[in-house]
Amino acid sequence: EQLPKAWNLYHSYTALPGIFYAKTEPVPVDQPELVFFNKSLAESLGLPCDGVTEELAGNALPEGAAPIAQAYAGHQFGNFTMLGDGRAVLLGEQLTPDGKRVDIQLKGSGRTPFSRAGDGRAPYGAMIREYIMSEAMHGLGIPTSRSLSVVKTGEAVQRETAHEGGVLARVADSHIRVGTFQYVANWGSKDDLRALADYALNRHFPGNEEADHPYLYLLEQVIDRQAQLIAKWQHVGFIHGVMNTDNMTISGETIDYGPCAFMDAYDPDTVFSSIDAQGRYRYGNQPGIAEWNLVRFAETLLPLLDEDQDTAIKMAEDTLGRFAKSYRQYWLDGMRSKLGLFNQEAQDAPIIEDLLDIMKKNEADYTNTFRALTLGRPEDTGLAGVAAFDQWYKQWEARLGRQDESWEQSLYLMKRSNPSVIPRNHRVEEAIEAAVAREDVTVSEALLDVLADPYAYSEKQEPYTTLPAPSAEPYRTFCGT
Ligand code: AMP
Ligand code: MG
Ligand code: MG
Repeated sequence: EQLPKAWNLYHSYTALPGIFYAKTEPVPVDQPELVFFNKSLAESLGLPCDGVTEELAGNALPEGAAPIAQAYAGHQFGNFTMLGDGRAVLLGEQLTPDGKRVDIQLKGSGRTPFSRAGDGRAPYGAMIREYIMSEAMHGLGIPTSRSLSVVKTGEAVQRETAHEGGVLARVADSHIRVGTFQYVANWGSKDDLRALADYALNRHFPGNEEADHPYLYLLEQVIDRQAQLIAKWQHVGFIHGVMNTDNMTISGETIDYGPCAFMDAYDPDTVFSSIDAQGRYRYGNQPGIAEWNLVRFAETLLPLLDEDQDTAIKMAEDTLGRFAKSYRQYWLDGMRSKLGLFNQEAQDAPIIEDLLDIMKKNEADYTNTFRALTLGRPEDTGLAGVAAFDQWYKQWEARLGRQDESWEQSLYLMKRSNPSVIPRNHRVEEAIEAAVAREDVTVSEALLDVLADPYAYSEKQEPYTTLPAPSAEPYRTFCGT
């Protein structure tokens, strides 16, 4: 039966002790205009699709909203600090027609008690960027926050230059971060810490009821989800760009789309973020950084793991030791699928790594190399004629022969594992530019349309597979905008 479309907001988070949040209303904007609206997402959440501009701008509260800014801390580029929602408010948790509970948050919604020197606002262009990138990740099948809408505010946001303002509505399984645990471990009581851990277990890890030790189970599960997530990032060449502990979720979803971008030519040293001068968050460093962040998470749980802290440390260390192994396994499994391999052989890792090595030496485009292999057109990799590649290709064909599945079955698996389109940097910039400078959202809409099913290999995707014209300047992304 069809339920009426309505806000259906609940507030389990505010049952936590008061130190976890501050009641904060969004600050109204001058002239809200709803420019991007994700109708299919709204429908799946049971939300109304009409007459929602005021609510999505923060000018009116949806029925049943009880907005809060969440408190959290975090390591930013390795330095620990207090943070919190400085430009976002959680309107509440929507209970969806299929029984899910999701956070609905406004970002760019004005100052909060955690704003420090910030203005609480966000540029319209940056919010469009988050909308496109997060929806692209969803299309790729990667756990992520979703984007429900972008409202243009009619107000100016001052950065290095003046920008139009924007408010994004985002949807996530929750916004509990490693940094939320760090916050309570530093500034809360042990009871507060336990309350957060119990909350996270109940909300995200229902299997905990059978676990011998629920808090150890929490650590294991978060490690496992992050190992899966980072492997998926690596498989598609996604570079998050700002893997601070406050930007790492407990649910295992990708959040915080600031300076992220997709790699073009394969190179583990790729970094796009203008503020990441040391390359801390470069592509090849993502698994290691995830592990570092998980150590920070484990540290917060020590008081709950065992009364005896030496025992607790031993438990945490043993569990953390699993990250590298599970990450490697998830990564290998995904790379096998990218090469059409169903069974496992000991020599798979060297075959995969040889290809990556050849791609790196020859600056081959990451996405298009796998796409060409998927289409059975090795000549389109740009590597044909490179002796090492020709030799690799023969090895790969021989390897495909050592499994029961047919060539067709392999190509089918590869189609499901290798996206034909990704949000290429020049395409994303072009879409934002058209929307911001010319009020033309059709460019974004066309891009979002092909990104919704990046494994379709449809004709309309073809134009989106081409590389940008060579540029003298490397591509740069920005955060804090
Ligand atoms: P991010 O780089 O988006 O992960 O944000 C890091 C921290 O800075 C978070 O606490 C944000 O809420 C805060 N922040 C970022 N931009 C602003 C802003 N314009 N006003 C207030 N706080 C901000
Ligand atoms: Mg409070
Ligand atoms: Mg953040």
